Amino acid sequence: MIGSVRPYWRNFIDGDWVDGAGGDRIAVENPATGEIIAEVARAMPADVDRAVAAARAAFDARALLDLRPSERGELMFAIARQLERMSDEIATVECLDNGKTLANGLAEVSLTVRYLTYYGGLADKLEGRQIPLGRDFLDYTIHMPFGVSAQIVPWNGPLPVGARSVACALVTGNTVVLKSPEDSPLSLFLLAEACEKAGVPRGAVNILCGYGRDAGAALVAHRDIDHIVFTGSVATGKSVLRAAAERVVPCVMELGGKSAGIVYGDADLDRAAKAAARGIFHHSGQICSAASRLIVHRSIHDAFLERLKAEAERRSVGPGVDGHDMGPLISLRQLEKVEALCKTGVAEGATLVTGGSRMAVHAGHFMRPTIFAGVRPDMMIAQEEFFGPVVVVIPFDTPEEAVAIANGTDYGLAAGIFTRDLRLAHWTADRLVAGQVYVNEWWVGGVETPFGGTRRSGYGREKGQEALLGYVQTKNVGIRL
Ligand code: NAD
Repeated sequence: MIGSVRPYWRNFIDGDWVDGAGGDRIAVENPATGEIIAEVARAMPADVDRAVAAARAAFDARALLDLRPSERGELMFAIARQLERMSDEIATVECLDNGKTLANGLAEVSLTVRYLTYYGGLADKLEGRQIPLGRDFLDYTIHMPFGVSAQIVPWNGPLPVGARSVACALVTGNTVVLKSPEDSPLSLFLLAEACEKAGVPRGAVNILCGYGRDAGAALVAHRDIDHIVFTGSVATGKSVLRAAAERVVPCVMELGGKSAGIVYGDADLDRAAKAAARGIFHHSGQICSAASRLIVHRSIHDAFLERLKAEAERRSVGPGVDGHDMGPLISLRQLEKVEALCKTGVAEGATLVTGGSRMAVHAGHFMRPTIFAGVRPDMMIAQEEFFGPVVVVIPFDTPEEAVAIANGTDYGLAAGIFTRDLRLAHWTADRLVAGQVYVNEWWVGGVETPFGGTRRSGYGREKGQEALLGYVQTKNVGIRL
């Protein structure tokens, strides 16, 4: 099933596959082996200029806007069909360029297809309002696209994260310039290929890969973009917002998280431990909504920890292509960051229950599943995002204390509650500062359920019907009859 990866990939600009303006290339590493498996053309600010000009021309020509909304929906279905045909190549690329397991690679294809068909189906259902002004007037609202949507994608799930933003933009009549992540660029080129084969109008979708510091910065600061969708870290998000502020460009910001699960004394401990382990160890913790803090009632603390430790230690770690439960971290840089933060945890006096260090498998960037107990909420390891397979366990005595600890970071992306008491679950969900709350599972919902941050986790929503509202602005038309 696992094939090889094409050795060289070009950027997709104005319907053509092109080399980078400077002629440079970016090497793509397999994080499970440290080997260079491919190169991509390095986009420079001049390439960004070309891509934005193409997207502008396509928007001004009303390439998508003049289609019936249902036809824009059909286009999403056509892209989805193309991606399905490319499933094996996508799964291979996700394993080799991203470090995903084969199962996860295939799951990413299904998820992406779901995003495209979900938003394709919604294309003709975004309705305006008629506002009554009395006998002599007709007044109605229209959802207008912004124009050129600039999109910046991180490396942890580039294909579904990129495709959902592209789909929302296209069905609402925007055009797109997307910068794929330099650490994992390949799957989004396959999305570009699917768009080309599906007949997306020339220039309506442009996908290029460059470094954040030049291509990314040039894109978000470009004077001819009208909208920004940024998914990535808080630090980069702030610099994107500064660029956006210069031209008052509206943004959807999907940033980091330090999401907490509260385990009450009456929870089903076996199920809670399984859900929590999946919540932190899936894709080696490189998920913004990972369950990276567990706030556990003192009465069941030790029994829960024992189960969680067993879950961590039964996971096999190794290359995704070999069928392991957990693959590598994306890069040596990320591995070093996670390991250094673990050392900080030990220095802060937290108890290392299991893991805490890298694993020597080939020359890959593998990190052991890690649990810290005896953690105080003010410790750095309870406040900073690891973006790795590390969970911190904090004990509590009262529900008020649990909520205060859960809400006690700069972030507010997701949160979880484990209890058999539905009244307590509602009480807690009401008080948690988070964009999504899961009860008795981690990650309840998916494509259909609105997702996004509060506080430094960002604003705006992706997924669900709400997401479309982030890609349009309301125009009111008032007519004197
Ligand atoms: P990052 O911020 O380093 O990079 C994200 C993207 O921004 C990359 O494509 C990068 O090239 C680009 N970039 C870097 N500097 C830029 C600049 N000055 N201007 C414009 N673009 C620039 O993040 P990362 O390390 O790739 O991803 C991990 C982070 O992303 C974590 O904090 C994680 O929580 C977050 N994330 C959030 C979500 C979400 O939906 N909330 C989803 C996935 C990841």
